[in-house]
Amino acid sequence: MELCNIDDIRAVLGRHGFRFSKSLGQNFLTAAWVPARIAESCGVDEKSCALEVGPGMGCLTEQLSQRADKVCAIELDRALFPVLEETLAHCSNVSIVQGDVLKCDLAGICREQFGDAPVYACANLPYYITTPAISALLASGAFQAITVMVQKEVAERICAPAGTSEYSAFSVYIEYYAKAEILFDVPRDCFIPQPKVDSAVLRLIPRSQPPVPVRDEKLFFSLVKAAFGQRRKTLANALNPVLGGTLGKAGITQLITDCGFDARIRGEKLSFADFAALTELTYERTRA
Ligand code: SAM
Repeated sequence: MELCNIDDIRAVLGRHGFRFSKSLGQNFLTAAWVPARIAESCGVDEKSCALEVGPGMGCLTEQLSQRADKVCAIELDRALFPVLEETLAHCSNVSIVQGDVLKCDLAGICREQFGDAPVYACANLPYYITTPAISALLASGAFQAITVMVQKEVAERICAPAGTSEYSAFSVYIEYYAKAEILFDVPRDCFIPQPKVDSAVLRLIPRSQPPVPVRDEKLFFSLVKAAFGQRRKTLANALNPVLGGTLGKAGITQLITDCGFDARIRGEKLSFADFAALTELTYERTRA
């Protein structure tokens, strides 16, 4: 059985009376090169393990199983369990755990399944939970690398440089915790059912420290959130709800110019290092 062959997929799913759920983001891969390339580029080898989110009917799981010491796949939909039992019967190093990736203890599952071995996360993520799933994978601190397929636009937003229209608070959040890189694009006709958008495979390498030292993480993210929350406003106006009470309007403008920025700059122009500098000076002026 070929797990990306459309006739085989229809036959297996038909045997188990399985119906795709749009609300669970179930778009299965029908192009064998895609799971092979994801598994090949995710970094796992025979001395390490893989944690997969959302195995579907197991095409990526099978590829990971051929390269990793052990694989654990977390699947929410119980209806896929009998399917996976059939499709992965030949993969003795795979275990499937029923659960919601947003609610389970990812670090705990990795410890339980893999002990101290290095672990690589991999997924063709369901679109409806892309952002929280990436955040949960990063926050677990359990992975050497996180390789996920997401909507192409989301991948581009995550990797967007400062000053572009795709650059967002989430780009800055990701940059804080990881080094992000788009590996390759996957056209929409590689899935069943076919989604309305193209996808891209993104690799995140978690960082032990942010790329530039940040004085106060909470303050940093509150400034980033404010700066992007009101994109069409100048940075001075966008920061007013957060800093107006302590610094006043004139104090905020002074803060911005003292950082070396134009008084009328917009938040989306600030790079990671700029936000770090803004945090530093804000810290000094509000906590002194
Ligand atoms: N890996 C398969 C493939 O590439 O063909 C399926 C990918 S499909 C885009 C997403 C998978 O994630 C589905 O199997 C779906 O049931 C599962 N899923 C959806 N929400 C989930 C959640 N919150 N936690 C774990 N798995 C979930």
